[in-house]
Amino acid sequence: MNAIILAVGSEMLTPFKTDTNSLAVTERLNALGYDVRTKLVVGDRLDDIVSALRSVIGRVELVVCTGGLGPTEDDLTRDALAQVLDVDLEVDPAILDELRARFARRGIVMRDNNARQAQVPRGVAVVKNANGTAPGLLTVRAGTIVALLPGPPREMTPMLEGLIRDGHIPARSGGLFRRVLRITGRPESEVDAIAHPVYSPWRTQPIPITTTILAVLGQIELHLTAAAPTREAADAALTPAVEALCASLGSSVFSVDGRPLEAVVGDQLRQAGWMASVAESCTGGLLASRLTDVPGSSEYFDRGVVCYSNQAKVDLLGVPLALIEEQGAVSEPVALAMASGIRTRAGTVVGIGITGIAGPGGGTDHKPVGTVAVAVVAGSRQSVRTLHLFGSREQIKYQAAQAAMNMLRLMMIDART
Ligand code: ATP
Repeated sequence: MNAIILAVGSEMLTPFKTDTNSLAVTERLNALGYDVRTKLVVGDRLDDIVSALRSVIGRVELVVCTGGLGPTEDDLTRDALAQVLDVDLEVDPAILDELRARFARRGIVMRDNNARQAQVPRGVAVVKNANGTAPGLLTVRAGTIVALLPGPPREMTPMLEGLIRDGHIPARSGGLFRRVLRITGRPESEVDAIAHPVYSPWRTQPIPITTTILAVLGQIELHLTAAAPTREAADAALTPAVEALCASLGSSVFSVDGRPLEAVVGDQLRQAGWMASVAESCTGGLLASRLTDVPGSSEYFDRGVVCYSNQAKVDLLGVPLALIEEQGAVSEPVALAMASGIRTRAGTVVGIGITGIAGPGGGTDHKPVGTVAVAVVAGSRQSVRTLHLFGSREQIKYQAAQAAMNMLRLMMIDART
C-alpha cells in the first residue's frame, strides 16, 4: 500500500527550517504497512497547494498533509482542499464554540482571523486537536484517504495516532520494521567490512532484512529493516540479526534501542552508583550540556567547569602552571591533571578533562587544528588519548565530547569484567 506525504509551509523552503514531520509520519506509516512513495514540500501559495493535492489524490491509498491549517492569511490548506474538491468552505458552529471557549478559558479575546479555523470544506470530516486551535480534516477522494493535519509536531503526532487508533488510517497486512545499531570509535569502512559478511545472507531469507549504513557525526548507524506480516514476525528475524552484529562489532556498538551515547553512559553511571564531574576547555561546556540533556542526570552528574584560559585551569582545577608551560595546554598530561583536578574538587568517582584546538585558527604543525587530548579518571583507573579530529569548529567540539563519553563507557564496561 502506498502513501504520499505533503508538507505545507514556505519556511521549509528556506535554509532555516526542515520538514521533520514527514520523518515521524513515515516511521509510523511504515510500521502500518504503507510504503511512502513520495514526499513533497510546498510553500504557502494557494495554486501550489492545489496543484500538489491534485497531483497526489487518486495516485496512492493515503495522503498525509501537514501544515497550513492555522488562522493566518498564509494558512491555505483548507482553501486548497475546498478548491480541489470543488466545494464551499462552511463555518462549523461546533468548532467556533470550541475555539471561543478555549480562548475564554485563557482570558484572551479571540481575534476574527481565528474563526478561519472553524471553516470546513463541505462534506469533509473534522479531526479534533487536543493540543492546539487548528482542527484537522479528513476525507476520501478517488480512492485516496486524505488527512490534513496541523504543522506543529506536538499537535500533528497525537492526531495522526488518533486517526490510526480509530481505524481512519487502517493498518495494512504487514509493514516495515526497523532496528538501529549505533556504533562509535570505528570508521564507517571498518564497520562495513566487519558487518557486510554478517548481514549479506539476510537479504534472501524468508523475512528479508535490508541494511543501510549511515555515517553521522561522531557515530555510525546501521539500520536494519525487515518487511514482515507482523511485528512479532519482524522481531523474530531482527533480534538474532542485531545479536549477530553486536557479536561481530563488539563493544563499539553502544546502543540498539535508540538511546544516544549520553543516555547510555548515564545509565552505566547510575547502575554503578558513580557520580561524574567534567572539566572542559575546547568543548566549552558541550559535554556537560549533553550529559545533562538526559532526564534524571542529577543522579550521576555533579558539576562541570569550563576552564578555557590557562589561568582558569590553574585557578579552578589546580593544574600546575609549569605543567602547562612544559607540555602545552593541549597535551595528555594537562588533560589528565584537569580530570584529576575536577574529580578531587567535586569529590566524585569519575573526572573527565578535555583540552584541544577546535579551530579554525590556532593550530601548529606539531598540534594541528583538531588535536584534542581527553582524559578520564574513574576510581583507580585512568585513560588518556590524543584525538586527531576533522571538520568545522562545532564538529570538532561534538566529536571530542562524543569520544570522552565513549572512553568513559568503555572504561565502565572494563571495570565490570
Ligand atoms: P498553527 O495553528 O500553529 O499555525 P499550522 O497547521 O498552520 O498550525 P504552520 O503554521 O504551517 O502550521 O506551522 C506551525 C509550526 O509548525 C511552525 O513552527 C512550523 O515551522 C512547524 N511545522 C510546520 N510544518 C512542519 C513540518 N513539516 N515539520 C516540522 N515542523 C513543521
